[in-house]
Amino acid sequence: MHCPYCNATDTKVIDSRLVTEGNQVRRRRECQACGERVTTYESAELLMPRVVKQDGKREPFDEVKLGNGLAKALEKRPVSVEQMVAAANRIKHALRSTGEREVDSRIIGEQVMTQLRGLDEVAYVRFASVYRSFQDISEFRDEIDRMERATVDETVVEKVVVDKTLVEKAKARD
Ligand SMILES: [Zn+2]
Repeated sequence: MHCPYCNATDTKVIDSRLVTEGNQVRRRRECQACGERVTTYESAELLMPRVVKQDGKREPFDEVKLGNGLAKALEKRPVSVEQMVAAANRIKHALRSTGEREVDSRIIGEQVMTQLRGLDEVAYVRFASVYRSFQDISEFRDEIDRMERATVDETVVEKVVVDKTLVEKAKARD
């Protein structure tokens, strides 16, 4: 690939390794002209099912939206970016494995909850508490934004405590 700094046509791969459970290749490249180094990530582009929203509208699967949703829930939690990307990949894999061309947004929400539960309890409760009432990943994000803007932290804590009961119920069902 061309160098993004000087646009020279030749960059040399100096390191290459598998990341996110082997779903991506991370490469370090060095420009032979200016000596700058860049990192590239390579992954297979696989067809995702379309998303059917609560109101019946269809939209393309949005990987950025999924990533942002996970990132919001995991904000300031002891979970690495690597773990987060791996969770997103497992969600995408699960959605593709349905073999369906369209998938309910509800299914995506449930997948996100499953993955978050395995990663971090607080992130799971954060997501579940708002998701359960909205059933829509974009509305969830708006709600989290609103929660963050609220200056009194106690309101969030209170919400999390209240929703702990939901977690217990969910656990009891498993
Ligand atoms: Zn260069």
